[in-house]
Amino acid sequence: MRKEPPGGEELAIAAPHCYCGRLARLQTSWTESTPLRRFFVCPKLERGKNGCGFFVWVDIEMPRRERALMAWLLRTKREVEDQIVHARAREKKLWIALFISWAFVFMIWFGNIG
Ligand SMILES: [Zn+2]
Repeated sequence: MRKEPPGGEELAIAAPHCYCGRLARLQTSWTESTPLRRFFVCPKLERGKNGCGFFVWVDIEMPRRERALMAWLLRTKREVEDQIVHARAREKKLWIALFISWAFVFMIWFGNIG
């Protein structure tokens, strides 16, 4: 669901090789302490596996103020996305309720005529 931020296409081409000789994979950090800072890792790095341990930052460290702002923006973005998901679910329920209520209205209407 999480989309990679723009930028990095040119870096993916210039990726360094990790210690096991593979092209390093470009990733973006989403932590509060290093928001959106990009880094190269061993492509074998997965959940529970460290690969060869290759790790190198691509972007320089952001000043503390910008880092805090970025973390706050990302948090706010996540909150807004959650609110949209909840609002859509609520809207769907309301449409169903509206449909059912109209179905009842028609049933009663045609029931009285017939
Ligand atoms: Zn490796």
